[in-house]
Amino acid sequence: MNNGHTFLNKVLSIIKEETEDNVPLIQFKHPEDLEKILDLSVLDGVPDDRLETIVRQVLQYSVKTGKPTFRNQLYGGTDPYSLAGAVIAEAFNTSQYTFEVAPAFTLIELEIIRHVLHLFGIPHGDGIFSPGGSVSMLYAIVQARFQRFPQVKREGMWGLPRMMIFTSEDSHYSVLKAAHWLGFGTESVRMIKTNPQGQMLVEELDKAIQEEVALGRCPLMVNATAGTTVLGAIDDLTAVSEVCKRHGVWMHVDGCWGGSLILSEKYRHMLAGIERANSISWNPHKMAGAVLQCSLFLVRRPALHEANCAAATYLFQQDKFYTVRYDTGDKSVQCGRKTDAFKLWVMWKARGDAGLGSLVDRTMHIAQHCLRAVSSRPGFRVVSQPLMCPNVCFWYIPAFMRGKEEDEKWWGLMHKITPKIKELLTLSARLMVAYTPLRQHKNFFRLAFTCHPEVTTEHVADMLEAIEECGEMVTLDMLQ
Ligand SMILES: *Cc1c(COP(=O)(O)O)cnc(C)c1O
Repeated sequence: MNNGHTFLNKVLSIIKEETEDNVPLIQFKHPEDLEKILDLSVLDGVPDDRLETIVRQVLQYSVKTGKPTFRNQLYGGTDPYSLAGAVIAEAFNTSQYTFEVAPAFTLIELEIIRHVLHLFGIPHGDGIFSPGGSVSMLYAIVQARFQRFPQVKREGMWGLPRMMIFTSEDSHYSVLKAAHWLGFGTESVRMIKTNPQGQMLVEELDKAIQEEVALGRCPLMVNATAGTTVLGAIDDLTAVSEVCKRHGVWMHVDGCWGGSLILSEKYRHMLAGIERANSISWNPHKMAGAVLQCSLFLVRRPALHEANCAAATYLFQQDKFYTVRYDTGDKSVQCGRKTDAFKLWVMWKARGDAGLGSLVDRTMHIAQHCLRAVSSRPGFRVVSQPLMCPNVCFWYIPAFMRGKEEDEKWWGLMHKITPKIKELLTLSARLMVAYTPLRQHKNFFRLAFTCHPEVTTEHVADMLEAIEECGEMVTLDMLQ
């Protein structure tokens, strides 16, 4: 019987070899075919050399998300320092709940939270690392509800007025999921219209809140977005905060994507007003390149513990031999919790505020460059500008579609052309890029840029060329 250690020692070299520069972004196989290729059954144990072969095959068919051509989502390549932190964190396999099992990691989480609260302008607040933005949305609503109706913790929602949540039509779907999970129901979410750039119409928000009050309902929370998932729009946070203040409504800022701009002295003004929020979420695992999962939920008033604690006597004993306020786990809804803060701390410690800021600047600059390139290139059409976050959204219009009347039928074809181009790009491993419809817009591409790996102007030129070449391969027959 092998003990596993020999295999473990080989792992880093396996990873290195399977992600070498000449390895393609993806070797796409349809699920039915991939199932036949991979030997996945775990019924019988295999010797190490066989295991290595199978693991290499798994990596061969996995997406190389660290390549510049992986632009499929809002995460991508990782900061090498964060990856180093992640490897260490995994190897030290502990849980973040108590000081006794995570002494140094606990202090690191507290230090990072302190630093981030300061950056966002709510220095007296509190925070917690959560598994992601969607879970942070749950935290935000729980916090808003607890602050308004503290009895909810014991009595539940019985006897409480009908509560409403407001968010923009371009905001992330996690608001709807959270409304369902927390017993509000998705019909308790009011979607507020946006302007063409994707920012919530604040007058509409104000009107909607007044309407709900007139109906006898309780406006509980406004979710403002700093960096919408598709267009990268940042709501007018100052204007939203004034409406929230006027109506006594909790203001949450979903900064999962755009929150990283706070790192940049040059771009942080885009987030003006965020310091007025009651709570903020930010995903360093997106633009900033921390290893998944690395996400923060922050509150202005330090009532996280009060809202979430359950005081389990077998974990958070109050008669321990050290200062028990360093057992921070009862602020969380999780019990076991990964030491995610460490992955962020290692990269921050290595680069400092200035280092991270310049990576964000570089990211915004390449996005600006891409937007200019797209604007001036025949066949490309921009969806929205100017940029607020490094999202560049556009259509590619193949030559055979140009110069025609852009009626409903024409847009119907464009709606099919975009996914077809995406398919060709993926199968040829040239680029993985997102596409989506939005409001009245038919399917378009979103090229979003992240801090890692560095994307150069040559990379951008290659990406646009790939889209163009695949776009010109599309024929009407393919769209049936
Ligand atoms: C990605 C995203 C989320 C969700 O974050 P996860 O970590 O994927 O759960 C929430 N809001 C916005 C704006 C996002 O872009």
